[in-house]
Amino acid sequence: MDDGLSPIPNAIRPLWQTLLADAITRPADLLSALGIDPAHPALAAELLRAFPIRVPRGFAARMARGDVDDPLFRQVWPSPREADEVPGYTTDAVGDLAKLKDGGLIHKYQGRALAIATGACAVNCRYCFRRHFPYGDALASRNHWRATLASLDADPSIEEVILSGGDPLALSDDKLAEFAAALAERPWIKRLRLHTRLPVVLPERVDERLLGWLSASRLQKVVVLHINHANEIDEAVIEACTRLRAAGVTLLNQAVLLHQVNDSTDAQARLSERCFAAGVLPYYLFVLDRVAGAAHFDVSELTAQTIMRELAARLPGYLVPRLVREIAGEPAKTQLPW
Ligand SMILES: *Cc1c(COP(=O)(O)O)cnc(C)c1O
Ligand code: SF4
Repeated sequence: MDDGLSPIPNAIRPLWQTLLADAITRPADLLSALGIDPAHPALAAELLRAFPIRVPRGFAARMARGDVDDPLFRQVWPSPREADEVPGYTTDAVGDLAKLKDGGLIHKYQGRALAIATGACAVNCRYCFRRHFPYGDALASRNHWRATLASLDADPSIEEVILSGGDPLALSDDKLAEFAAALAERPWIKRLRLHTRLPVVLPERVDERLLGWLSASRLQKVVVLHINHANEIDEAVIEACTRLRAAGVTLLNQAVLLHQVNDSTDAQARLSERCFAAGVLPYYLFVLDRVAGAAHFDVSELTAQTIMRELAARLPGYLVPRLVREIAGEPAKTQLPW
């Protein structure tokens, strides 16, 4: 299928696709771009092949030079600790594979279904469950979206369609606009939601073509961004968010609580404040899915609860995200008490 990454002549290729294709994909290139010692320990190359490094250059530019503790660098750097085998950390931590129907549709929660639009992402986040997701199988069909629509037609209780992935905004706007139009023809469908990191890691993605089909759609639009640290939000991201809002999109953020990235009250408070400055409300703060290779990002629930209590004492209620865990078989994300 056309995943938005296929070769298109430069003349008609949108800028964002050129930038996407130009992302850093070799550890040595990231280290040299950041002026970090080339001997900085990395995951063995043969293990890295299964889930390679991928970082848009503009995102790398938001990392501090020479700082291996930078919170953005840590999210994308393939640490040798990914090879650790840790009990309880598995390859399908959220139980999605059992729920995947034809057409890549995952219908776990009432009234809304999640469609795996593509396996592609603009950035490879080392803590992500996607590192083990066999997208090839889920997306193999040439008639992928036709099957998705057929599943939706079979169940009119689904009023909200969530495009996830991978990153749905890695798809071309032609593809997305066509799908959004097909959804809009189905009167029981009210909302289109996109779960995406692209406007953050590559804000050029929010161009006229994207804004065009979004603002033209009768559907209510929700974009749930994924931002883990305040430093991810620069002026270009704020501008991209402003344009999305002007196109009638409600903007929310989901973050993952990550060791040595954002596991402090200060980091969370700055993230919420910075999101709000961009017109984005905090939605979920996930505790880590127990994904094989990501155990070194884990934060204890006790620490999470302490952060939440301190955050709630410091910020207005609308800037405090819900602390949640995804538990297979539950009818919703599970809110953790604090
Ligand atoms: C997280 C998720 C949703 C959305 O849940 P909300 O609580 O509405 O944000 C929907 N479907 C699946 C399969 C999910 O994993
Ligand atoms: S799905 Fe989201 S969290 Fe996972 S690698 Fe892609 S952008 Fe990162």
